[in-house]
Amino acid sequence: MTINQQTKLAGLAMTALRSNFTRLSRPYKLTFSITYSCQSRCLTCSIWQLHPTGELDLREIKEFAARNNYFKWIEITGGEPFLRSDIVDIIRAFKDSSKDLYLLTMPTNSLCNPDAVVGKITQILELGIPKVSITLSLDGYRELHDKIRGIPGNFDRVINMARRLHELQATHSNLFFIFGYTMSRFNQGHLLETIQKVKAELSWATYNNFHVNVGQVSDTYYKNEKLDLAPDRPVIAQELGEFIGYRKYEFGALPTVETAFLKKLQYYVKTGKPPMKGRSLDVSLFMDSYGNVYPSIMWGRKIGNIRESGYSLAPMWNNDEAKEVRRLIKEGREPGAWTACEAYQTLVGHIASLL
Ligand code: SF4
Repeated sequence: MTINQQTKLAGLAMTALRSNFTRLSRPYKLTFSITYSCQSRCLTCSIWQLHPTGELDLREIKEFAARNNYFKWIEITGGEPFLRSDIVDIIRAFKDSSKDLYLLTMPTNSLCNPDAVVGKITQILELGIPKVSITLSLDGYRELHDKIRGIPGNFDRVINMARRLHELQATHSNLFFIFGYTMSRFNQGHLLETIQKVKAELSWATYNNFHVNVGQVSDTYYKNEKLDLAPDRPVIAQELGEFIGYRKYEFGALPTVETAFLKKLQYYVKTGKPPMKGRSLDVSLFMDSYGNVYPSIMWGRKIGNIRESGYSLAPMWNNDEAKEVRRLIKEGREPGAWTACEAYQTLVGHIASLL
């Protein structure tokens, strides 16, 4: 790691540490859905049924990035982020303005043209962000994944993308990627079988290459409040416990947070309750593709829209709605959820939970 990269990592770590002892004056993590367009047909999410118009354009996103130039961690999401032809320019805008940006995370359903996606990822890697982590959505072995995602051949496209990214790692040390497995009633009991089958396809794959989430319901984001995806809790608690047992210990900040996330996920799966209070509108926020700002990806309590605030978060960061959200969190009245988009910053903001 270069001195510049070490400095950015230290900046992120110090800010996260400081969030344990004081309320930050501005967030360090942005989760940004750059489009609600999606070509999947998932059983667990209704975003694909939207036909979005009027989403933020590149000029607006550049304006937002310039006026809010303090992010150290940006999570770009969708829909399918790679459906935006200007994705590289969007990320460049954040990289150019947020000088201390250390980490960029992004999912993909692997359905876009693989050559085009690998080309875009290569351009993103060459922007010089110290760590770029791509999550390849994978909810089951071949037939199961294709059924849950509603697209024949999707599993093979995921495996192909994993091979391409594995090759790309040989020349780009800032690239990381994992498989993102979302547990729901549609794939309950199939986690370990899925990993075994992926390992059979990819000799280098290990249990540590998998990140596991539980399917969540959100009228703001997934628009899936009418869908029944709730799994049998004892079944997924059992497979999650076995999965954790198979994972190898890894040294480092992110593996430590991931291990803590999984242990808390077990609690969430067993009880249905979030294991700790969130840090929404303190260290992080969620912005949708229309510029609406929410406390988190799971909480549809809008605090403002950047189109009405000159593309700056500052006017809304301490408005009455934001203060009310913080009061509700303090009282433990935040809607219950435990998803990685929100949990990581919650964990590092409660440093004792990592020990
Ligand atoms: S889960 Fe992701 S890939 Fe599936 S429909 Fe929703 S946004 Fe699209």
